[in-house]
Amino acid sequence: MGLNENLIQAIEKIEKARVRTDRHRIVRLVAVSKYATSQEIQALYECGQRAFGENKVQDLQEKSDKLNNLPLEWHFIGTLQNNKINALLKLKPTLLQSLHSLNLAYELQKRLERDNLTLKALLQVNSAKEESKSGFLPEIAQESYHKIQEECPNIKLCGIMSIGAHTQETKIIQKSFEVSYKIFESLKTRGAKTLSLGMSGDFELAIACGSNCVRLGSILFKNA
Ligand SMILES: *Cc1c(COP(=O)(O)O)cnc(C)c1O
Repeated sequence: MGLNENLIQAIEKIEKARVRTDRHRIVRLVAVSKYATSQEIQALYECGQRAFGENKVQDLQEKSDKLNNLPLEWHFIGTLQNNKINALLKLKPTLLQSLHSLNLAYELQKRLERDNLTLKALLQVNSAKEESKSGFLPEIAQESYHKIQEECPNIKLCGIMSIGAHTQETKIIQKSFEVSYKIFESLKTRGAKTLSLGMSGDFELAIACGSNCVRLGSILFKNA
């Protein structure tokens, strides 16, 4: 199987899940390229894919640098350490999907204000309350969203990102998606537009639960 076949199959599955749930919803595909080389990213771009996601600032830096002649859209999806903020902002990512703490929001705001920049971001919610994961606990997600909107004017929040529960049990994964969906719904009046849920193992379920942005890595790049 090649990259093109992988992409076509993924798009077909997304499309089926989308039509089953809501014909009027547009579902965005972010190709998570953390397992991929720059050559593979370029090959997928040539198949029509534009949006890519990385979870390490250094990888994003290297790959976006190598591919800077292509009109790619870069999403950052990893845990961001304070000492990497400047490097990330220099790369002008399309969307920071993983705004995972108030402290990070304040540190971002300081630098954005200083450099007169804005940054689009999603609030990351730790919907399954897993210790290994970053993100706001569901109980404080809504108030934290409001707080960031009020106190960090250079951060443009546009929705929620979450990783499904780490288990094989569909019911539990579904529950974690439903937690995120509820929070997303409650923030629509605050301008929330993107609900980023779903990875290679659970994106069809995520779409059924309301996701309009899936982040697919292994299904696209493995065995290509
Ligand atoms: C790695 C990663 C993905 C993609 O995972 P796959 O299972 O390979 O599709 C999606 N989201 C985040 C935050 C990730 O770190």
